[in-house]
Amino acid sequence: MRTLLHGGDIVAYADGGHRLLRGGALVFENDRVVFVGREYHGAADRRLDVRGKLVIPGLVNLHCHADTEAGGRLIADVGRRDYFQAGFLNYFAAPKGKTPLGARADRTRGARFALVELLKSGCTTVLPIGGADEPMVETVGALGIRAYLSPAFKSGSYVLHDDGALAYEWDEEAGRQGLERAKQFIARHAGAHDGRLRGMLYPYQVDTCSAELLRATRKAADELGVGIEIHAGQNLLEFHEILRRHCKTPVEFLEDVGLLGPDAILGHCIISTAHHLAALPAGRDLEILARTRTTVAHCPLVFARRGNALESFHRFRAAGVNVGLGTDTYPRDLVSEMRWASLLCKIVDHDFTVATAGDALNAATLAGARALGRDDLGRLTPGAKADIVIVNLKSIRIGPYRDPVRALVNCATMDDVEQVFVDGRTVVERGRVVGVDEDALLAEAQEEAERLWRTVPDWHWEKLTADELAPPSFAPLTNDLGA
Ligand SMILES: [Zn+2]
Repeated sequence: MRTLLHGGDIVAYADGGHRLLRGGALVFENDRVVFVGREYHGAADRRLDVRGKLVIPGLVNLHCHADTEAGGRLIADVGRRDYFQAGFLNYFAAPKGKTPLGARADRTRGARFALVELLKSGCTTVLPIGGADEPMVETVGALGIRAYLSPAFKSGSYVLHDDGALAYEWDEEAGRQGLERAKQFIARHAGAHDGRLRGMLYPYQVDTCSAELLRATRKAADELGVGIEIHAGQNLLEFHEILRRHCKTPVEFLEDVGLLGPDAILGHCIISTAHHLAALPAGRDLEILARTRTTVAHCPLVFARRGNALESFHRFRAAGVNVGLGTDTYPRDLVSEMRWASLLCKIVDHDFTVATAGDALNAATLAGARALGRDDLGRLTPGAKADIVIVNLKSIRIGPYRDPVRALVNCATMDDVEQVFVDGRTVVERGRVVGVDEDALLAEAQEEAERLWRTVPDWHWEKLTADELAPPSFAPLTNDLGA
């Protein structure tokens, strides 16, 4: 089946970079792009008029978590100061013997909700870190998204002492077994759903994985021919924990155990020797990342909510580091995330000329594809996968525009994503995910989150309720007003 998109502005790929084609034509046949140009005179089975719309490559989300984020929603504006801007520890760490919020979540419901949101934001390729399982494999198949899956594993856990102090508890055997489970999962499912599902190894965090586990992970990744993603440089606490434990920064430590390389992705890397809070002279982290061709998955919004930012998106790229984008927790709106990447970098660098709209779209497409070793993703050119996003730029919010890429990055949100194709199949149409009752899905997610919020006193170290932990923005209105 041959489909022609005509009349729209197209972000096409030629000579090693994106090019803009105003009012052009793009043709794809089955799962591949076959033509991009001014006009197409050949036959087509389906013709779509996309005038006033921007046609971009499917976005690559290098770092997201596939759940309802009930925990993440408890920590806006609040949290413990000793976690040094790491919000997740507020619901991820629990007293010994207690099950923290994340482990109580219904993974199937969470994954379904998250993957639908990701598709609606134009993410055609996603790397959900964490709880991959058999139902998630089915969900990926049903929704038609492209995903790199594997269950995450670790040899250490965060536990809170009676006084609330954070500590690590180690279980090397659990780490080994987790890696084995991940290897089996990848062997069982990689290549499923017409090759849309692939495997990747996810040792969870640099501070909850031993050197032995990380060395075994590198060996397994090389044997399986898959990549690796790990959280590293997430917060000051973790950075100094690794420095204390190994006399190395997280980046130096990961290089030392052989984990870094062109197939490795570091989630966040906010705190490195490039960040002023690290206060570490003679830092080599950027040089190491560039030399080993390691990718950083940059998720600006979730850190902005904690009052922190990468220093900086521009400086990493200028040093030769491959920086892709992710959304981490919520919202999973990669269109808006491009704006956050651009604006936060301008603020951090005090320079309005850096982190341009083009840089942000490159990060969300080509840099993501490079991290995955895929020259058939993140670009629209003959031979590339027909992973395509059509964004409607005709709206009052976007207004008049000269440059559709700036209109996208500066003004658009995921709500402007109108149609999405993965492997040439329509997965989002008129902004709705095909085959999904979105109202029912949202109601289900709300119910699931409320169930989890009711569990807060069961795992919180001070037995706080959700309202005590995260008080509402305004005090409730308790009496009627007026006659
Ligand atoms: Zn993460």
